[in-house]
Amino acid sequence: MPARVLWDIVHIMDSTEKAAGNVRARYAPSPTGLQHIGGIRTALFNYLFARSQGPGGKFLLRLEDTDRTRFDERYVKNLYETFDWLGFRWDEGPDIGGPAGPYIQSERFDLYKKYALGLVEQGRAYYCFCSPQRIEEIRKQREEAHSGESGYDRHCRTIDSVEAGERAASGESYAIRLKIPLGETTRFHDRILGDIEWKNDDVNPDPVLLKSDGFPTYHLANVVDDHLMGITHVMRAQEWIPSTPLHVIMYRSFGWEAPEFCHLPMVMGQDGKKLSKRHGATSIDEFRKQGYLREALVNYIALLGCSYEEGKDLYTLEELARLFRMDKLNKAPAVFDYKKLEWYNGQYIRMKSDGELAGLIMPYALEAGIFGKGGPDEDQKKIFTASMALVRERLVFPGEAPAKLAYLFAEPPLPPLEEFFPKKADTGATVALLEKALPLVSKMALMDDGDAEQYIKAAAEKEGVRLGDLMMPLRVAITGARVSPPLFGSLRLLGPDVSEKRVNRAIAALKGAL
Ligand code: GLU
Ligand code: ZN
Repeated sequence: MPARVLWDIVHIMDSTEKAAGNVRARYAPSPTGLQHIGGIRTALFNYLFARSQGPGGKFLLRLEDTDRTRFDERYVKNLYETFDWLGFRWDEGPDIGGPAGPYIQSERFDLYKKYALGLVEQGRAYYCFCSPQRIEEIRKQREEAHSGESGYDRHCRTIDSVEAGERAASGESYAIRLKIPLGETTRFHDRILGDIEWKNDDVNPDPVLLKSDGFPTYHLANVVDDHLMGITHVMRAQEWIPSTPLHVIMYRSFGWEAPEFCHLPMVMGQDGKKLSKRHGATSIDEFRKQGYLREALVNYIALLGCSYEEGKDLYTLEELARLFRMDKLNKAPAVFDYKKLEWYNGQYIRMKSDGELAGLIMPYALEAGIFGKGGPDEDQKKIFTASMALVRERLVFPGEAPAKLAYLFAEPPLPPLEEFFPKKADTGATVALLEKALPLVSKMALMDDGDAEQYIKAAAEKEGVRLGDLMMPLRVAITGARVSPPLFGSLRLLGPDVSEKRVNRAIAALKGAL
């Protein structure tokens, strides 16, 4: 097909696709790895930016899967699952009607080729017939000569265009390279970093746009798609800065307006090095498996290099979307603080209702087998849900709860007898304390916290013992440990009979040692 015709068609398409005055942002991951903190931070900021614009803002998802050697379907699945879990929704895709897309570059390969051919026709790109062997030889020669030069030697740039066209038409294998205008400077403005300038002669010499197998390079597909999709703002990781001058030259070669660029500061570990596995979990999957709540992750990631309102730590996704401003992005690298993320997790756990939290913890409880064989019966389910009030304030991760709650569903193993002893007490004194506590237990199991506290306080006073000395052995008898969820709530959930039984068991055990 004559390239010119298509060129014009595509231009008509462009102008209708690009809605003037609206913001269109995108996340454009290459599915070559699991979604990690850095990538999801980019996705989140783009998402928030689009949403902050109200109905005029659109957020697109585009799979940049041009690198077929590093592609893995697993990573595509991971991307969708991560988006789903975090609650990110993209706005449109290639399928008109029905639940939309995302855009997938491997389904658009013909399009990129046509654009590359269009540039050749305009004299802004050219056919390169060099064999891979030749390219490799230049590289070697330069290395040996320590010339300091790198990349292509522009060998085919001077081939007469008619001759080159004939060679390509006759079936000779070719790549298409961008003809970088030499002796010029390329400038662009970055929303965070300000004006950036590159001498064209320092840009990678005439990079390949279309490979000899007809596949586009990342640069070609990225620029063509950002243009066709009417992307107004490219917000991406700072490691893409070196590619941006090339992209700006490409926009100019195509005769297109470049989007605004905004390169996000790095995310570092606390040692000042780029966040990596050495620091801890980095993939969203890992955080999820560790028991991080999506709200905590989203909230914390949103703060990596951006500020919202003064004096507030906790934001929902909706609030963030309303408050996000590009000019609140920081220039300085963000430091990822695992402890702070844990704190967020604890905060969001505290916000869960009993039912919600029980739902989060149940898989861990089943895995730990705390209900005995066959899973929880109806009574156990009720106790489990009610027990959330006992642990909510003490959890960082849902997975910590089953060990803390097991005593509610089975008699805990009897701890070493010294565990029962209050300070300075011996076995005899401890038995005496438990015998004083025994008659209180069945009543306290029917009281609310306030009443139970009053009741046991009064009893301690009357008996002339310290409240703590009365409570400590009782706590160990009921829960099996000195450090446990609250005693009064435990008594209520266990009920008078079981509570009394446990105190009797402890008394018997201690007496046996007298
Ligand atoms: N595919 C690139 C990546 O994996 C996208 C860079 C960009 O956003 O332009 O990060
Ligand atoms: Zn060549």
